[in-house]
Amino acid sequence: MDYFSGHISDLIEQLSSLPGIGAKSAQRLAFFIISQPEEKAKRLADSIVSARQNVRYCKCCCTLTDAELCPVCASPKRDKSTIMVVETPRDLAAYEKTGKYEGVYHVLHGAISPMLGIGPDDIRLKELMVRLASGDVKEVIIATNSSLEGETTAMYVSRLIKPTGIKTTRIASGVPVGGDLENIDEVTLLRALDGRTEL
Ligand code: ZN
Repeated sequence: MDYFSGHISDLIEQLSSLPGIGAKSAQRLAFFIISQPEEKAKRLADSIVSARQNVRYCKCCCTLTDAELCPVCASPKRDKSTIMVVETPRDLAAYEKTGKYEGVYHVLHGAISPMLGIGPDDIRLKELMVRLASGDVKEVIIATNSSLEGETTAMYVSRLIKPTGIKTTRIASGVPVGGDLENIDEVTLLRALDGRTEL
């Protein structure tokens, strides 16, 4: 028996397909959205569609952005000779929030995970190697998470870079094991960055 109208059920189903949203949260969100003025619901829907249509990958670092180059890559103030490799745009945002990192980034969009069938070709590694081939890069800081996948990726990336002779460092393991970079406070992030060691 259906307790809800078809439209509500559909909305709940769509919302519960989002990561981290269970059936209960989806119901709560659906009823909240319906309780709002139509104008507000429309703004939410429009912002989803417009983000999906207009957001693209930065031509240089592969993070998500509105323009051809993201603000970090486009800034003349950033040190293009230091590249920090992170897993997601959220990790990039975490480091940007500290306001202390002056280099640029490379966003892999994931990590190598043999268990989940994610290999080196499934993340943005080729794009990183193309950037390194330009010859202007002096250091690559590997800031993948300290999870098993993050460590596997760090090891793989460092081996890939080794033959180029470019200095490769790994952020200190002050970052809690399995911890997402975005959930770590700025002080811990900066300590991990300062304490990085050469691989
Ligand atoms: Zn960029």
